[in-house]
Amino acid sequence: MRCEEVSENLSFYIDGEIKGKMRKDISIHLKKCERCKKEASDLRLIKAETRSLSPIEPPDWIWFNIKNTLWRQRLFKRVFAIASAACLAIVIVGSLFFIRTSQKRAKTDIAFERLKTLDEAIEECRESLRVNPNARVRKTLYDMYKEQVKTINLIYSEGGEQ
Ligand SMILES: [Zn+2]
Repeated sequence: MRCEEVSENLSFYIDGEIKGKMRKDISIHLKKCERCKKEASDLRLIKAETRSLSPIEPPDWIWFNIKNTLWRQRLFKRVFAIASAACLAIVIVGSLFFIRTSQKRAKTDIAFERLKTLDEAIEECRESLRVNPNARVRKTLYDMYKEQVKTINLIYSEGGEQ
């Protein structure tokens, strides 16, 4: 019997699932082949260790860690949402300054663009308020609504002058 053949059947042989002539052939091979003898003894050891292991029950701290990680991820999302709302507020202030210093001719175009930015910023703020009802975001949202009304009035008044 060749080593490959012994190796293939070794696990079944150890478990007592191989009978008759084949079992005899394997045991003869194991007596004279050091390599296969070593493999058999390793396999016996692994099998014994596996049997001695108790069923694994995850300890409580694993669940605590999972919950903790999820909570941190959610917190990060909230912080990120607030930060992005704050960023947009800066963009709005910046564009307001730009409107005041720009040419009158382009005013309406800029106002339309600004209105679009405001719409996006308002949507962003509403989204972050849904995730976290935060007083600062609420105030920003309120300011943006006011700016929206002002911008619409500006577009109307500029349109009337033309
Ligand atoms: Zn062998």
